[in-house]
Amino acid sequence: MSTEILSGRELATHLRAEAAARAAELSASGRPPRLAVVTATADESSAWYVRSIAKAAEKTGLACDVHDLGPEAAPAAIRARLEQLSADDTVHGIILQTPLPSGAALEDLASAIAFEKDVDGANPLSLGRLASGLPAFAPATAEAVVVLLEHHRVPLAGRRVAVVGRSTVVGKPAALLLLDRHATVTVCHSRTTDLAAVTAEADVLVAAVGRAGLITAAHVKEGAVVIDVGTNPTADGGLTGDVDAASVDGRAGALTPVPGGVGPVTTALLLRHTVQAAERD
Ligand code: NAP
Repeated sequence: MSTEILSGRELATHLRAEAAARAAELSASGRPPRLAVVTATADESSAWYVRSIAKAAEKTGLACDVHDLGPEAAPAAIRARLEQLSADDTVHGIILQTPLPSGAALEDLASAIAFEKDVDGANPLSLGRLASGLPAFAPATAEAVVVLLEHHRVPLAGRRVAVVGRSTVVGKPAALLLLDRHATVTVCHSRTTDLAAVTAEADVLVAAVGRAGLITAAHVKEGAVVIDVGTNPTADGGLTGDVDAASVDGRAGALTPVPGGVGPVTTALLLRHTVQAAERD
């Protein structure tokens, strides 16, 4: 059996084209959608990610302002900027980029992002609403997992899904969204005993850990669909996922590539959320 590669690029292009059309309508009516990215780090991969969001926003017809507060920024200064942007009627979406300076906690500061502008679902209120079945923006990466599966027509209702990783930004919200699609979800983490025995039961396996090559053929049920969320830097400056693609090749039914899988869909969803927030304004 050959493993199908589930690219996210074509889906991302489609999502961005749709967002661009809606952004053009908003701009024509004098309400151009605007995204603000607040960053306070010298981390190079974070800077690269912020640049890629800003570029994608510009191409899609959204204004995007990067508020770089520097790696020494005090939590109070970050909070004050988030509050200022939350009160600014011309801003529709706000992202607080990680990593944050030491002493600053994402869950704490993100509560200063107005819930309606929380396009990356970072405010704990958004996660609570998501868990309660109320409208809220989900973290874009978690939503990208589900949107990719749906785009590739992978059935979820009644199927066993294992999510490896329980972070607030990816694992937990992905599990909630999958549960909402009626999957039977198991969430695994660093204390899970015999990870491979658990994941090998899953029809769909989502790896969101941050450990290159953690998932091998031994973790995968024959024919399972594997979504690789992991983005781990390689020695040559590239990126690799949590899944050992060579190992699972021929065993997994399908696999998302890294790069080119979840990543581009995540960016496209951030733009879509910002357009949605502007439309509701
Ligand atoms: P995180 O906050 O570090 O969480 C990692 C999770 O993996 C934790 O729940 C941890 O368990 C679990 N874990 C660690 N080692 C494990 C092991 N050996 N076996 C099983 N579980 C293990 O990371 P994150 O922010 O969720 O990100 C996860 C990955 O996704 C990273 O590679 C990140 O770069 C990537 N990511 C990609 C995108 C994208 O757009 N493509 C966006 C966001 C993140 P404990 O809870 O027990 O510690």
